[in-house]
Amino acid sequence: MSMKKSIALAVICVLAVSVLLAGCGGQQNTETSTGGEKQPVIGVAIYKFDDTFMTSVRDNIAKAAEGKAKVDIVDSQNSQPIQNDKIDLFITKKVDALIVNPVDRTAAGTIIDKAKEANIPVVFINREPLPEDMQKWDKVYYVGARAEESGRLQGEIMAEYWKSHPEADKNKDGKMQYVMLMGEPGHQDAELRTKYSIEAVKAAGIEVEELARDTAMWDRVKAQDKMAAFLTAHGDKIEAVFANNDDMALGAIEALKAAGYFKDGKYIPVVGVDATVPGVEALKEGTLLGTVLNDAKNQGRAALELAYVLAKGETPTKENTGYEITDGKYVWIPYVKITLDNIEDAQQ
Ligand code: BGC
Ligand code: CA
Repeated sequence: MSMKKSIALAVICVLAVSVLLAGCGGQQNTETSTGGEKQPVIGVAIYKFDDTFMTSVRDNIAKAAEGKAKVDIVDSQNSQPIQNDKIDLFITKKVDALIVNPVDRTAAGTIIDKAKEANIPVVFINREPLPEDMQKWDKVYYVGARAEESGRLQGEIMAEYWKSHPEADKNKDGKMQYVMLMGEPGHQDAELRTKYSIEAVKAAGIEVEELARDTAMWDRVKAQDKMAAFLTAHGDKIEAVFANNDDMALGAIEALKAAGYFKDGKYIPVVGVDATVPGVEALKEGTLLGTVLNDAKNQGRAALELAYVLAKGETPTKENTGYEITDGKYVWIPYVKITLDNIEDAQQ
């Protein structure tokens, strides 16, 4: 073979091999990216990114979507008008399903009307729409937890402590003098935790007296300010602190530390809800008496599974989502009481 011919042959071979490789590569690409079928697109609107618990839920939604759906997660910045705009945009883009954590739960009705018009199923999370809104369309679901249960569990933790620590009744009047730090007004978790935590203490046979209550909007810094104000007004008359979530309990603990609590034998029981990472740290440190696991992992996963099934045009069932559907529309994720004794149940 002449030199020229062999070079030509080599060139042809290289070309042939690269064409083959390209062909192969191309084919492989299409296969892996579609996995046989197109991944549905799910639009997710969170009430605000700057919320400890919702950050955990949103991370879990993203995690659950890996390899099966494309999630576009947006921050509604605690503004219903901003959220409405973001939802309009999702509808224009023709997403296959929506997951919505409303800013104002009474706005759900309008969101449902729009989604129904565009035939895009909606899964609401964390802020429960009114029952009449939930009935507006069959492709509307809610994933959350039973608010009254979290209140009751918090109250039980406090009652148990009170009964085993007679010194907790500092003025020896036989009553628990408490303060209450509340989440956002109108939020089912704020209203019901406030009510049922105290109901549970009373149900345990303990008399109560409320010294103060105020909203700290789920926020740690606001709660620290409110607790400082409670301490200025009532000082050591306060015998117990209830907070509707861990962030506010942690804010209260900061104010209490500044007032000399949690050292030299000065103690006051504080309870929260969520079992967030910093909440569990405070439990270990001995400042937070107890909390209630608000299961961000299962709430995030259930929301994604439901949206995924709906996006494919199917009806969610226990078989295709892994979660029990109640009344054809609701997934209820249980709360779990968390104290130092079962701290491992909170590690997600
Ligand atoms: C959580 C709070 C959170 C709120 C947001 C509640 O269920 O306990 O920590 O701020 O949801 O809507
Ligand atoms: Ca007392």
